[in-house]
Amino acid sequence: MATTIQSRPELSPQSRLAVRLRDELESKRCICHRRKAAGKSFCSKCQMQLTKELADGLDKKIFAGYEEAYQAAVDFLAEQKRKGRHA
Ligand SMILES: [Zn+2]
Repeated sequence: MATTIQSRPELSPQSRLAVRLRDELESKRCICHRRKAAGKSFCSKCQMQLTKELADGLDKKIFAGYEEAYQAAVDFLAEQKRKGRHA
């Protein structure tokens, strides 16, 4: 009789989000596929396009507003790209 072994502990959606955000922060690849520094949300080109308000939001900690700020910045950058506006 096979026993189901839970190899991965069940993570809450919030924990999964935190892991994903941390992975993205630590990766060296920006959402635009350019290289970025580990520990930064975006590469310098993307960072430059952000409004001050969006950039300031990225200084927040995960679960203290960072995830919303990051998502807003991602949406903003996608919108800029869609418009074809280049910095
Ligand atoms: Zn970028």
